[in-house]
Amino acid sequence: MSLPRFGEQYRHVAHAANNYFEYYGDPAGYDEKVVENVQEEILETWIDTTWPACPRHGRHPLLYHDDGWWWCEQDRVAVCKLGDLATLNRRN
Ligand SMILES: [Zn+2]
Repeated sequence: MSLPRFGEQYRHVAHAANNYFEYYGDPAGYDEKVVENVQEEILETWIDTTWPACPRHGRHPLLYHDDGWWWCEQDRVAVCKLGDLATLNRRN
């Protein structure tokens, strides 16, 4: 089990997700919950409305599917495996 690697600006979100895990104690689906929570919060708080940005188009966010991959809904292709997102989003 590994946390997706977020930029420094998302650290508090990942931390909140970690608390969520400790509270519910449900390792199964943990990655999925973290991803959903993080993406929801980021989109809802307008930190970045296209996070994570699709590397193919750049104008829409990738969608996380429960197969463990981030998908481009426009082309209907799996673009990036969970955990490899950091390699696409080096912003610093
Ligand atoms: Zn796309």
